[in-house]
Amino acid sequence: MQIAKDTAVTIQFTLKDSDTGKVLEGAQDPITYLHGGYGNLIPKLEEALEGQATGYRGIVKLTPADAFGERDESLLHNIPKSQFPPGVKVGGQLEATDDQGQRIVFTVLKIKGDTVYLDGNHPLAGKALTFDVKVTDVRAASPEEIQHGHAHGAHGHHH
Ligand code: ZN
Repeated sequence: MQIAKDTAVTIQFTLKDSDTGKVLEGAQDPITYLHGGYGNLIPKLEEALEGQATGYRGIVKLTPADAFGERDESLLHNIPKSQFPPGVKVGGQLEATDDQGQRIVFTVLKIKGDTVYLDGNHPLAGKALTFDVKVTDVRAASPEEIQHGHAHGAHGHHH
């Protein structure tokens, strides 16, 4: 079966930084996603997989804009340490909500004196990414999966 809209696709991938070659995410457990623009996968990655079938293996290179976007320096913030719960650590993450009610995840970049430096960019923003992706299963999605907008099953969404 070929990957098309409303198929449930199981993939395994390794993710590398295209510029440094550094592995950002090693081969992990397979994931099953619902294909067809449901926002479950980076659109350009879905595009590259469209029409492929089980057994396909390919390298997909994405520019920062096609992956997690360019870095936005306006998302860098300094906040007094007193505003944080105890135990805030460099590399840790915390969630905030912006003026539009959007959820932003901040990463703690550094703590210097009484100031905590936060970065609201996605950790992969500004990076060109290389996916080494392998398709291990393709099947028709169930009506329930299509209604929910995600795949169910062993490697899919659990309720
Ligand atoms: Zn569901």
